[in-house]
Amino acid sequence: MGISIHNVSKTFGNFNALQDVSLTIPSGKLVALLGPSGSGKTTLLRLIAGLEQMEQGQILFDGEDTTTKSIQERQVGFVFQHYALFRHMSVFDNVAFGLQVRSRTERPAKTEIRAKVRELLRLVQLDGLESRFPAQLSGGQRQRVALARALAIEPKVLLLDEPFGALDAKVRQELRKWLKQLHHALQITTVFVTHDQEEALEMADEVVIVNKGGIEQVGSPVEVYQRPANPFVYSFLGRVNTFTGKVVAGEFQLGALRYQTEDTRRWNNSHVVGYIRPHELEVAPVSGGEGWAAAELTHISMIGPLVRLECKLIESGIPFEIEVSGEQYLEITKQVKGNLYVNVKQMRLFATKESPIQLEEKNHIQSVSLAVSELKA
Ligand code: ATP
Repeated sequence: MGISIHNVSKTFGNFNALQDVSLTIPSGKLVALLGPSGSGKTTLLRLIAGLEQMEQGQILFDGEDTTTKSIQERQVGFVFQHYALFRHMSVFDNVAFGLQVRSRTERPAKTEIRAKVRELLRLVQLDGLESRFPAQLSGGQRQRVALARALAIEPKVLLLDEPFGALDAKVRQELRKWLKQLHHALQITTVFVTHDQEEALEMADEVVIVNKGGIEQVGSPVEVYQRPANPFVYSFLGRVNTFTGKVVAGEFQLGALRYQTEDTRRWNNSHVVGYIRPHELEVAPVSGGEGWAAAELTHISMIGPLVRLECKLIESGIPFEIEVSGEQYLEITKQVKGNLYVNVKQMRLFATKESPIQLEEKNHIQSVSLAVSELKA
């Protein structure tokens, strides 16, 4: 089931939660709505489900307008962050609920319901636990029951709102892998909301970056990470250094630091902000020649197999980060005498309207820490 969202707007009182949002969700894909808190992800998900009414726009399921259709008519399975299981019902009854509440003519026979629930519990790896009550399950198990319950009605679309948000890091990681495999096996169009970039990049076929009630970018995890459409996406998806400089004769210049490509040539005679991921800077114990700048190492931290070097440019004092392998780090420290030297391997430029003087003061590291950085620790 493909979903087409056309020019959707939603307000709560005077507040515009979504403004003129358009999006296509291809059939069978696993799509992440990723964005900061309050950006409108849940509102969009609830509109797709039919749990909210929009003021403007249209949502089509396989080309059919859903505006007047309820969640049941849309055949949507919904999983909330906080389980929302019926506490007084067993696991079996929770999973069977969507089938048991159907009208007599549509309700499957008891034996059929039993077989279906058992099959689903096997699928979510909870066979044998059907007579337990939610309070007798772990958080991860409860969330798998919630998923089995959503799948029981054989939904055409599965919608998950921060499904792993309430779980601890290890369980979250296991469930991510498991949900991806499950999606691969079932191929149901699935949309999940998350504010965790690592979760979105690891799981989704497509990532939709939501910000301030609009969509900043849609693309595969590699596309949005490697080719961010704008500074917001750059900063939101991982760590990034920002260097403000100017482009002279097609070359980005910030003191001794130089960089030139097709992209920089387009910005000739402009003041620009260069966005550089920590691994896109080269570092050496001696200068590699023109374009290299001297830097002082101010702090070192281990991040899994990598070493993060916090540095500042000698000429301007501008701070930045570089990430290198442990091996590279040892090699550099063996040879270094005093300063380090850095060179730009890759950089994306974006315009700025501010004056050069203000800009130089504004050079800084924009480090948006990964929400699951504790996983790596
Ligand atoms: P989070 O990650 O924190 O859940 P989100 O991106 O899912 O955030 P939404 O829940 O969609 O954000 O909310 C978007 C904006 O709309 C927020 O500013 C929120 O306060 C507001 N909002 C959401 N639901 C309502 C409501 N029922 N009444 C009033 N304002 C609401």
